[in-house]
Parts: sequence; C-alpha cells; structure tokens
Amino acid sequence: MNILVINCGSSSLKFQLIDSDTEKWIAKGLCERIGMEGSVINYTPVGGDKEVTKSPMPDHTEAIRLVLEALTNDKTGVVKNLDEIGAVGHRIVHGGERFASSTVIDDKVIAAIKECNDLAPLHNPANLIGIDACRKLMPKTPMVAVFDTAFHQTMPEKAYMYGLPYRYYEKYKIRRYGFHGTSHAYVSAHAAEFLGLDYNNLKMIVCHLGNGASVSAVKNGKCVDTSMGLTPLEGLIMGTRSGDLDPAIIEFIANKENMTLSEVLNVLNKKSGVYGLSGDLSSDFRDLESAHLEGNKLATLALETYCYRVAKYIGSYVAALNGVDVICFTAGIGENAPIVRTMVCEYLGYLGISIDETENNKRGDDNIISTKDSKVIVAVIPTNEELAIARETLALV
Ligand code: AMP
Repeated sequence: MNILVINCGSSSLKFQLIDSDTEKWIAKGLCERIGMEGSVINYTPVGGDKEVTKSPMPDHTEAIRLVLEALTNDKTGVVKNLDEIGAVGHRIVHGGERFASSTVIDDKVIAAIKECNDLAPLHNPANLIGIDACRKLMPKTPMVAVFDTAFHQTMPEKAYMYGLPYRYYEKYKIRRYGFHGTSHAYVSAHAAEFLGLDYNNLKMIVCHLGNGASVSAVKNGKCVDTSMGLTPLEGLIMGTRSGDLDPAIIEFIANKENMTLSEVLNVLNKKSGVYGLSGDLSSDFRDLESAHLEGNKLATLALETYCYRVAKYIGSYVAALNGVDVICFTAGIGENAPIVRTMVCEYLGYLGISIDETENNKRGDDNIISTKDSKVIVAVIPTNEELAIARETLALV
C-alpha cells in the first residue's frame, strides 16, 4: 500500500509517499511559505531530479492540492490517481495525556487534538489544518494521527512531575511530556534489531541530536524518562533553543533588557542554543565545527558546552536505568558529526565505554562505533520518522 506521510507546520508542509511493501519512499518534498508571498513546492520522485516550482499557496488546502497533483501528474507523478494512495499518516506534535498511541482520525479524535492546542500553540493548530485539508481533498482515504509525545507516555509519575504545586498538574496538566517520540521509538527498536538483542530486555539511551535535540531512557522497550518537557524548550542545548536553565533568568533578562515574557521566550527559543553561545555565528554544526577548527573560541565554547550537557544527561539516565546496555546517536548531528560523538563519549570512560575512531568516522548506515571490548555498545542509528509514521499508519488501517 502507498502511504502518504504529512508533517504540517504553520507555513510549511513536508511529505513523503512510502510503499509499505518495500518500506522505501517513492516521492518526497516540501511546500514552503504557505500563506505568504513566494510559495514554493519542492518535489522529488524516486530516481528523478528534484523539481522546484513557484506556485501561490494561500492556504494548506492549496499546498496539499499541489502535492497530490505532483504525485499524480502524467510526467513525473508516481501514482496514476488518488485511489493508489491507501492511507495518510499525519505527524501530530502534542497528544497530551489523551494519546498514548497512534489512532485513526475521526471527528472525536480531531476534537481531542484541539483540546491539546494549549500545550503546543505553534504546532497543533497547524497539524490540524493539514488533517482538515487532506480530508477535504481525499474524503474516503483513511487517516492516522501519530503523536510526537505518545512514546513517552509510559514514563512513571516521578519522571514526569515537576517540583511545582500539584494543583497546576491537576488544573492545567503541567508535566513533562517529551517530544521526538516517533524517532526515539523507531531508533531504540531498530537498534535492538540491528544489534540482535532483545528489545524487551534492554537498557538503552537514545540521543536524538538534530536542530531540536532530546535524550530518552528506554527500559525494556518503554520510555522511562526524556529530556524535553511540557514544551520542546527543556533539556539539551539545541540549535537555537537554550534547553535547561535557572527559571529566574527569565525575569532577570526581562528586567535588564526591558522585554516582555514572550520576548524573552522568543530569545530562549530562537536566539539561544549553540547559535547564541557562539556569538550568533551559526546553529549549524558544520559551520561550528569548521570555525572551531580555525580557532574560533566561541565556536569551541558552543561545542564543548553542547557535548557536556549531552554527557550529563546520559549520566543521569544511567542512574535512572540503573545501568545501560546501548547508547544510540541519531538525527542530523548525531548521525553526521563524529566530533560530537567523540566529545560526548570522552566523559563516559567510567562506564567502560571506548570508541573505535575508524568506525566513528564512517558515514551512512547503522553502525557500531564502540570497540569490541567496550562495556556498553555505542551505535549510530539513522532515524526515519516518516517510515515510523507509515508503519504506524499501516498497522491501524
Ligand atoms: P535535523 O534537525 O535532524 O535535520 O538536523 C539538522 C542539523 O544537523 C543541522 O542544523 C546541522 O547542525 C546538523 N548536520 C547536518 N549535516 C551535518 C554534517 N554533515 N556535519 C555536522 N552536522 C550536520
């Protein structure tokens, strides 16, 4: 069955059409600047060249219409008509406590996702617009919602509660939810399979290091802790997000810089992380690495602070799991930046971890980068959130 995977943001829309038999993508692309001037759609059919087409997209319905047209057109389309798309899987950022697993979309599910809008005001409304647009254009096709938060719903209370008055949890459901769940679930399960180990009897730590970044502790196939919180701002230092900090800093900056709370939060979300730490040099690790090698002190500071934070989280999750069998690195940085893996693992000698630098410098596929005598296996496992969403979708339709 061909499954269309949709990841809808406020002004962008990523898509992949996946053949569930081969588990390979047959077309993929991205619509950008939806609702703005200069909208553009990128479309790549498998084995073909990327096409970039400027086309007005006043709303998401028009963006999805263009996606469906690209997939079905006579020249570069990959299916004859929409009947050849068996189901649509939608990535939904926040499922609150309501959704501990993926679910087939109906009116009730849409209403329940809406109830989570408060928890992810930038993401969930955009995800819902994507669902609405697809339902208009493909009214008979079954659709599934796959939640970023679902995998983390197995965390115990002690891991998800904050040290805040309990009534805030009761009244507003303020707690740790965690994100990147689809990736943490996919990578941990896939790593166990790749390593030939029993997923249901394994202590794992997954480091998803992309532009957004999070760590999770996975015990016997279930998430027991994760670094992102009520929102994706908590935890690791990220591309432009601060991650953990003293909450009193927010008022301090607001007073000193004469800013409102939301202006400070904007700084914490968009101007901080390695971007801010490096003196606004870049949020991209390729730039930071070359600047570091050229002797740029702030680039070095950003890299060192970033890796130290990852290592501290790994240490705390070793405590949470009372040991660890496998540590996985994934996502843009985790998969492509050997220097980050080396710098993180330098802190982990006490666990009996040693890294094989030849393996660490290889690119591409699933790979073990620890030495044979390392007490803990360290592996690079490329994530594939779209495939994970397609699998969930197939399982439910
Ligand atoms: P993601 O959010 O998973 O797509 O990751 C994107 C980030 O991965 C980029 O912002 C870069 O910081 C990083 N990245 C991608 N490719 C490389 C590379 N070849 N070397 C180092 N970092 C990379």
